[in-house]
Amino acid sequence: MSVFESPEFDGHEDVIFHHDPGTGLRAIVAIHSTALGPAAGGCRMWPYASSGEAVTDVLRLARGMSYKNALAGLAFGGGKAVIMADPKRPKSPELFEAYGRCVDSLGGRYITAEDVGTTTADMECVARQTRYVSGLARHAGDVGGDPGPKTALGVFLGLKAAAKFRLGRADLAGVGVALQGVGGVGYHLARLLAAEGARLVIADVRAAAIERVADETGAIPVAIDRIIAQDVDIFAPCALGAILNAQSLAQLKAKVIAGAANNQLATDRDGVALHAAGVLYAPDYVINAGGIINVYHEYHGTSSEAQVSAAIALIPGRLTEIFERSRRENRPTNQIADELARARIGLAQRRLVA
Ligand code: NAD
Repeated sequence: MSVFESPEFDGHEDVIFHHDPGTGLRAIVAIHSTALGPAAGGCRMWPYASSGEAVTDVLRLARGMSYKNALAGLAFGGGKAVIMADPKRPKSPELFEAYGRCVDSLGGRYITAEDVGTTTADMECVARQTRYVSGLARHAGDVGGDPGPKTALGVFLGLKAAAKFRLGRADLAGVGVALQGVGGVGYHLARLLAAEGARLVIADVRAAAIERVADETGAIPVAIDRIIAQDVDIFAPCALGAILNAQSLAQLKAKVIAGAANNQLATDRDGVALHAAGVLYAPDYVINAGGIINVYHEYHGTSSEAQVSAAIALIPGRLTEIFERSRRENRPTNQIADELARARIGLAQRRLVA
């Protein structure tokens, strides 16, 4: 697959293919933009069927990080890395060290962290070879560690803003929420929602994950293929990308979509369809920025959790601005968010050139 001809190519600054013969590492790093700062974004480990599939994913994810970081107000550009390997197989520290050398060779243009298939422990191996890494195992009193709980906090606050805007609800008591995926983020989100009295239904492919959340929150488990069709107020996708598509939207009953999953819309047209149907969609990269905000503060050595929480607490206000503009201009929220992100990046690019 040629990078330049890929439909996902969006003027990315760099795409680096890296192979380490000693460990068998095959990694691709995509730097979408450094206009706002060093390109930051996680490293995904996935058993891609082909390098073409990996290129498509990394290009799309890197652009998403540019938009996410721009709208979160961070001095970070956007980038992402993928390692072509199965994270379910035993992991080798040497492979992550080799990946660390690859990241280091970029001289700070890209800052890595964990993502799907990688963990804080993997990032510790990366950190033996480079300082351009964040999301490391947490030490007492430090800011950092697994970004999942911080992502959940941002989603929770954003979901409440969406409920207020679309449902006129000041709190979540009795509000029905269907939660798809109760893993790293979904578990913490379920606890926050239950503590506010939300009525939860959940689905996950892992029985143990369901059992834990059901036991701790009283959530009602449903079949994975029925979660989107639940008669609830809010659908919170916290598992898969491209979950909002023509087929799934035909079953949707919720009036609000607010969840952590990246790339929830299969296509931009699905955002248009949601808007036309009166469903309020909280753009994924705006509502799920809590994790990267945490990574940013860790990377810059912020010492207080309170500063991180204060930065995450800005997410609902940002969403409400997008919701209001969507209503005023009668346009889908995803289009408005994309435009805002592109405008911020464009302004920074023009400043760099000037
Ligand atoms: P995770 O892997 O810990 O959890 C995902 C959960 O979804 C797992 O429990 C998995 O079993 C479940 N799942 C998989 N397929 C499913 C299906 N078909 N139906 C229902 N459940 C299914 O991942 P996570 O860290 O919780 O992230 C969840 C989503 O949020 C991902 O899309 C991720 O990219 C996105 N996200 C995560 C963070 C973060 O800080 N972890 C930040 C931003 C975005």
